[in-house]
Amino acid sequence: MASQPDCLFCKLVAGDIPATMVRETEQTVAFRDINPQAPTHVLVVPREHYPDVAALAAADAELTATVLSEAAAVADAEGTAERGYRIVFNTGAGAGQTVFHVHAHVLGGRGLGWPPG
Ligand code: AMP
Ligand code: ZN
Repeated sequence: MASQPDCLFCKLVAGDIPATMVRETEQTVAFRDINPQAPTHVLVVPREHYPDVAALAAADAELTATVLSEAAAVADAEGTAERGYRIVFNTGAGAGQTVFHVHAHVLGGRGLGWPPG
């Protein structure tokens, strides 16, 4: 989908708002969450706008896989892969989604309880 003028993460991808970048590829951007919930808390987004993971998966299976492999690469680079980490896609306001540009949360660096809150 085309970039959305009112989308926070489209603006971040375009460089219009600042972010602490972790990894960048032709198709994705990974940056630190501004309000981290764990020692490692990185968001991975496709440069292209999709409102949530369901829309992304329906439109582009390959890009969905790329977002996931980038999330795993972030976890690895952050040193969290051995201990364990979590990849989360909050989907819908009722599940806590606040930014409607699909993003994978990569959380690690501490024990992560289950079930999640
Ligand atoms: P969600 O609630 O799943 O939609 O996640 C949105 C995430 O974006 C939250 O964890 C926020 O802390 C994070 N966030 C919001 N604005 C920014 C920003 N400018 N830079 C980095 N992370 C942000
Ligand atoms: Zn967007």
